[in-house]
Formats: sequence, structure tokens, C-alpha cells
Amino acid sequence: MNIIIPYRREKSMKVIFHPRFYEVYTSDPAAAAGRMESIAKALEKDFEFVEPGPASERDLERVHGRSHIQDVKRDSLVYEIGCLSAGGAILAAEMAFEDQPSFGLIRPPGHHASPHSCWGFCYFNNIAIAIKKLISEEKIRSALILDFDLHFGDGTSNTFSSSPPVSYFHPEATRREGFLEEVQRSLQTERPYDLIAVSAGFDRHEEDWGGLLKTEDYFTIGKWAKEASLQHCRGRRFGVLEGGYNHLVLGRNVRSFLQGLSD
Ligand SMILES: [Zn+2]
Repeated sequence: MNIIIPYRREKSMKVIFHPRFYEVYTSDPAAAAGRMESIAKALEKDFEFVEPGPASERDLERVHGRSHIQDVKRDSLVYEIGCLSAGGAILAAEMAFEDQPSFGLIRPPGHHASPHSCWGFCYFNNIAIAIKKLISEEKIRSALILDFDLHFGDGTSNTFSSSPPVSYFHPEATRREGFLEEVQRSLQTERPYDLIAVSAGFDRHEEDWGGLLKTEDYFTIGKWAKEASLQHCRGRRFGVLEGGYNHLVLGRNVRSFLQGLSD
């Protein structure tokens, strides 16, 4: 007797998302109406969505000073969504630690948030908060952060400048081939790492502010990050959204990256 097993689409990569990320919490391009919709629409058929809870104040304090947290708190909407965004990064990191690759489809972004200040549409450093939590719980000792956003993640770099077990790489070559070579080199670092975290900003796309990368390049970068994680850290990998502002191409660029990063 033949047993017919119905085809089931494999949904290996989890997308961490909260409906409150649709809210327009301020007037910058990261908070623009329609931005998250354009990405969610491109991902919903292929990936399972998981809702995060907010980061706690204790989670924020592993990266940020109390006065910075109080400053952000003055705008309660920004604070609430900022905590959910950091919570999304934490959940993505925890899933990665449990061998479940994941992507935090979150906003506000975080890589320009330093311990005591922030700028560039960022408030709390999502990826740094997530990594610090795993380190403080002794789940991991080291991490590699690859940031392919158009802009240097000064907040992430400042957070980990005195923590050598966490390496931060931001490729900056101005030509496409050179940029991709830099990405590849950063993943082949000699330093051991227990997890790969990707600050995924899509503003370097040819139809976005940076005018450089093609949509398929995000697949390539995702695939390299996956391969490096399988080689160096048991496949533990996650990404979080940073920049990317052209709503017409953003969804397909994020999908391309996730297809590469996925199994
Ligand atoms: Zn950017």
C-alpha cells in the first residue's frame, strides 16, 4: 500500500515579529508607515512568525546607563515599542542558541544606540542587549556580529569595544565585489565564536540610499553566514533588521537574505 504524505512547506527559519511594530512611533524613515508591512507581506508565505515579549529594564541595563533609559522613557510610545524591539532581538538570540535560526523583524533599529546616547533612528541597541543577555546567562562566551547596513554601527562597536570576546565587523568597501569579499573575510576570522549575529540593514541596496548591492547579494551574504555558523558555532545564527528604506524593494531583499540564512 502506498501512503501518500502530503507536501508540507518547510518552515525552518522563524521570524520574530509583533503587530505593534506597524505603529508609527515617530517621524523618521525607520518608523515610516508601510515599511514593516512591505517586509511582512514578502515573508508571511514562507516563514512562521513568532511574537516576542518586551525586554525588561534589567535587560536594557546590561547595555545602557540608567539616565539613557530614563531619557527614552519620557516618550512612552517609543519606550514601549523600543522594549518590544529589544525583546524581539532577545527571542531571536535565544532561539539561535537553541539551534533554531531566526530573524528579528523589529523596529526601532538599534545599531546607533550606545550605552549612554543614541541617534540615527535608534534608541536601544537590540543586538547588543540580546548578546549581553546570553553572555550574562553563561549560554555563550563569544559572538561575531556582522553588520552589513550602509552605516557603521557605532553603538554596537562602542558597546563591545572593551569586550574582546565579541567581534564587530562592518564591511565598508565602496565597490560591490570588494564589499562582498570583506563580508567573506570577516566571517573567516581566526577568533573563535559561539554564535553569529547579523545586523541586517538593507539601505546599501542599488535602489536604496547606498546604491550598491543587488537583491541576490543578500542571499549570498545569508548563505555565507549560515555556512560559517555551521563550521564554527554549531549553526547558531540569527539576524535583526536595522536600516532599509525603499519599501518597493525592502521585502524582497529581506526575503533573499532569509532564504540564504535558512537551512
Ligand atoms: Zn543604515
